Amino acid sequence: MQAFDSHSTGTIQPVIVPRPQHHLSRANISDNALKVLYRLRQENFQAHLVGGGVRDLLLGHEPKDFDIATDATPEQVRQVFRNCRLIGRRFRLAHVHFGADIVEVATFRGCDVDADPLDRRLENGRIVRDNIYGTIAEDALRRDFTINALYYDIADFSLVDYVGGLADLQAGVVRLIGDPEQRYREDPVRMLRAVRFACKLGFMIEPATERPLFSLGPLLADISPARLFDEVLKLFQSGYGLEVFEKLRHYQLFGQLLPDTERCLAHEEHGFPLTFVSRGLDNTDQRLRARKPVASAFLFAVLLWEPVRQRAEQLQNNGLASLDAILLASSEVCQRQQRLIAIPKRYSLPMRDIWALQPRFEHRDSKRPYRLLTHPRFRAAYDFLVLRAEAGEAESELAEWWTRFQAASASERNNMITGSGAAKRRRRPRPRRRPAPAALKTDN
Ligand code: ATP
Ligand code: MG
Repeated sequence: MQAFDSHSTGTIQPVIVPRPQHHLSRANISDNALKVLYRLRQENFQAHLVGGGVRDLLLGHEPKDFDIATDATPEQVRQVFRNCRLIGRRFRLAHVHFGADIVEVATFRGCDVDADPLDRRLENGRIVRDNIYGTIAEDALRRDFTINALYYDIADFSLVDYVGGLADLQAGVVRLIGDPEQRYREDPVRMLRAVRFACKLGFMIEPATERPLFSLGPLLADISPARLFDEVLKLFQSGYGLEVFEKLRHYQLFGQLLPDTERCLAHEEHGFPLTFVSRGLDNTDQRLRARKPVASAFLFAVLLWEPVRQRAEQLQNNGLASLDAILLASSEVCQRQQRLIAIPKRYSLPMRDIWALQPRFEHRDSKRPYRLLTHPRFRAAYDFLVLRAEAGEAESELAEWWTRFQAASASERNNMITGSGAAKRRRRPRPRRRPAPAALKTDN
């Protein structure tokens, strides 16, 4: 692998693979992306498909989206397409709209060290603005991983590789372009991207790219909570969430994102909290692979349940009623978590409902089960209860009762409520569980 000096790109010769020697076919590129590529070309601009689109097509996967790189400036792109909007301040981009489909067009980024500081700014080594335009060779070096820096040139359908990305794609390697530590410092989110691509593609992280992951996690504290929210969704809704979770913990990155959860897991390394999160993520992965919808609220409910549950237990031991304890614990945990990851209300409100409904499952007398059934969040909360039972944290008898209750006829339901003895059982027996470590027992 060639070593790259990010300030002298003029001499690098790319590997060019002509059309007959590769299998990336236009038939697999979306019509809208092709339209944009051809149109830019017609206007005598360079136009390349780049990034995940090229990478995934070469691997035989279906790309999530198609990104285009060009030498046209964002303003020039806007002049070519009527259905175009310019977005972003940190990275100025053109979005070409086709109904709900958006094709992202980025101008080649350069690395002119003498450029106007308004266009490229670093703070503590971190890029806070990057709007200097350059050549395709410079653009390639500014990308994150070699496998993400491959270009498909619409002019002659060739593949263009400045950084050894084709070899890494073949070898199954995630490798940062340039000096790994410097590249992570420029943008710490690249650490999360390394983990995501390794899991999603089943690739290994090349040792020099991997090493800083163990130590640079604290840099994530500088990333805006809104951006981290987007990244966390991508991480856990990639279809490989369980593997992502295990890798993030391995590199001590998970605790940078969800510190309360990490603390709980670290205390009970093999107990039900770990089983619960792992099973929850595994369920999400299976749903995604079966192309079923997944609810982000449920995902965050799973990720943050253990700190909420432990805090609620503490509050209950201090005399609070179970529902009040859950509500107060939810508020405390959410407030702390929001400082790191900005979970929008449309997810955090249903998440809190899922938690708040958990104690209500225990009341199986009189009209209460009927009322619970009609709650708009019943289904998600019931799925959550089943997961808790599977992990050994809630009574499986309770989850089974609710499974039967939903399927039962009116008279069977009546019998279940009055005849099962459930009504008389005021408090469920506490689930069997290892004693909590002393540190967790402090009431405060
Ligand atoms: P996917 O869309 O499957 O998540 P992707 O590689 O297309 O993967 P995007 O976030 O869509 O990822 O970004 C498109 C391309 O932009 C990347 O392939 C990479 O070349 C470049 N890129 C994205 N984020 C960064 C970053 N933080 N640093 C450098 N380059 C980046
Ligand atoms: Mg993409």
